[in-house]
Amino acid sequence: MRFKVSIIGRPNVGKSTLFNRLAGRKLALVDDTPGVTRDRRVHPAKLFDLRFDVIDTAGLEDAAASSLEGRMRAQTETAIDEADLVLFLIDARTGLMPDDRTFAEVVRRTGKPVVLVANKAETRGAQGGMLEGWELGLGEPIPISAEHGEGMPDLREAIIEAL
Ligand code: GDP
Ligand code: MG
Repeated sequence: MRFKVSIIGRPNVGKSTLFNRLAGRKLALVDDTPGVTRDRRVHPAKLFDLRFDVIDTAGLEDAAASSLEGRMRAQTETAIDEADLVLFLIDARTGLMPDDRTFAEVVRRTGKPVVLVANKAETRGAQGGMLEGWELGLGEPIPISAEHGEGMPDLREAIIEAL
C-alpha cells in the first residue's frame, strides 16, 4: 500500500515547493500571493525508489479572515491525522520562529513519525538556522533545498528510518 506524507510548517518555509518537487510538478505552480485561496492538495509522489502520496497544506497562509493560529492548527491537525508520516519543514535561512515551535508541539503530541526538514539550506548562513532546529525536539534536522533539489538522498534515508 502507498503511504501518505503530509508536508507541515508555517507559511513560506517552502512546503509547496517541496510538494511540487516530490509530485514532479512545475515550480512555477508555487503561488507566492498571500491571501489566495487554495485547497489542500494530494498528489502521487516519487523520491528515488519511494512511492507515496504527498499532501500539501496549502491554504494555511490564507487565514486572514479568522484566527490565523486557530486555522493553521486545525488544518495541520487534519493533515497529520491523514498522514503515515509528517515532513515538518523549517526555514534554515530565517531560523526558528514562534510558529515553528507551536507546530512542532502539535506534531509531537500526535506521536506520528516525523522527519524534521531544514529547507533553503543552500542559502547563506543556513547552517545556524538548521542547527536551531534541534531545539524543536523532533530529532535531527535534514538540510535540503526544495528549490534546487539538494539533500534528496538524505531525505529519502530519513523517511525510511522514520517509517
Ligand atoms: P509555503 O508557503 O510553505 O508553501 O512556501 P512556498 O513553497 O510557497 O515557498 C515560499 C518561498 O520560498 C518562495 O518564494 C519559494 O521560491 C522560496 N523557496 C522555497 N524553497 C526554497 C529553497 O530551497 N531555497 C530558497 N532559497 N528559497 C526557497
Ligand atoms: Mg504553500
